[in-house]
Amino acid sequence: MRAVVVGAGVYGAAVGAALARRGAEVTVVDARAPGSGTSGTTFSWVNSRNKQPLIYHELNVAGMAAHQRLAAEVPLGEWYHGGGGIEWTSDEAALRAKVDALLALGYEAKWLTRAEALDLEPGLDPDRVPAGGAAYFPGEAWVDPARLIAHLLSSGVDVVADDAVAGLELNGDAVRSVRLESGRVLTADAVVNCAGPRADEVSAMAGLVLPMRNLPCVLVYTSPVAVPVSRVVHAPNVHLRPEPGDRILLHCSEVDQGGQEAVDRLVRDARSLYPAMRAATVESVRTGQRPIPGDGLPVLGRVAQVRNYFFAVSHSGVTLCLHAGELVADEVLGEDRDDALAAFRFERFEESR
Ligand SMILES: Cc1cc2nc3c(=O)[nH]c(=O)nc-3n(C[C@H](O)[C@H](O)[C@H](O)COP(=O)(O)OP(=O)(O)OC[C@H]3O[C@@H](n4cnc5c(N)ncnc54)[C@H](O)[C@@H]3O)c2cc1C
Repeated sequence: MRAVVVGAGVYGAAVGAALARRGAEVTVVDARAPGSGTSGTTFSWVNSRNKQPLIYHELNVAGMAAHQRLAAEVPLGEWYHGGGGIEWTSDEAALRAKVDALLALGYEAKWLTRAEALDLEPGLDPDRVPAGGAAYFPGEAWVDPARLIAHLLSSGVDVVADDAVAGLELNGDAVRSVRLESGRVLTADAVVNCAGPRADEVSAMAGLVLPMRNLPCVLVYTSPVAVPVSRVVHAPNVHLRPEPGDRILLHCSEVDQGGQEAVDRLVRDARSLYPAMRAATVESVRTGQRPIPGDGLPVLGRVAQVRNYFFAVSHSGVTLCLHAGELVADEVLGEDRDDALAAFRFERFEESR
């Protein structure tokens, strides 16, 4: 089995590693460097806190478990940062209802008193945490995608960087080879589209129309700063987490609209949340493209029209990549027994056209 995986983000790396582990000869091709796409500009929060419908929630929960397993297998990997996530909002009743709904689904969730929240995040200004407390989701984490991708690609996968896939040669209903921009041709028994926000372009090469509605999203990276942020925190107007190199990563939905004013407001809010952050400056502001298939749900697995062509494309790809990558690899190797990806097939777009 010679598999060509298009894209070396979290999905391409995860699918490539899963295939290689099971004996396939894998080439992962990227137009640029591994991890330089969306996976290099992401909040990378591993969670299933707000995921609907239920089948999508369950996929994300399985994604969280897959991360925990890999982190336990490779304890010195240093890409997985547990510690859970804390959230509070101005609408305590709605948040308490969310905690109850998640608990009913078996998701780890609890309500913290203000003192308990401050025990977990002692750098917070106590006055900014509501008197009624905050929600805590102990099973959540954040991931350093660059380290994860590096680990996954180090396990028997051949990587071709800085050479885009330019076309596919089909013979009947199967891809025979993959043509790169350099002119190189890779023979393929299977092709997996892991091209993130550009998955529609790589689909078109196989005659498949994949609707995408990618969303630009802005992240603010601080300079290194001594502030005890130890986990993912969602406060009103500020979402933050630690970033490698003693930096803090900041986000809120307003900042996605762009503009210096929104960035300044976000930094101001973060500083009022964690007073020690006053010593931080903005090191960079980066825009990532959320890869979002037309109906918002993942596109995973085989395609009826082209029998050796597969998809691994979604938002929340950091959470999903390890688990979904295994399921996609099952299908590439013809080893799927329980049709686990039935809800996420490409054909749903064909049917709705
Ligand atoms: C700001 C932001 C916050 C996010 N927050 C979270 C979060 O908290 N939790 C979470 O789980 N997810 C989050 N996501 C989503 C998550 O980051 C993505 O779903 C995931 O990174 C997608 O990975 P990927 O491998 O599919 O795509 P990418 O990382 O974009 O990789 C695709 C690769 O394909 C390559 N490529 C494209 N076309 C070609 C071609 N023709 N030939 C060769 N190579 C090609 C690109 O160069 C790229 O490297 C967030 C995204 C953004 C932007």
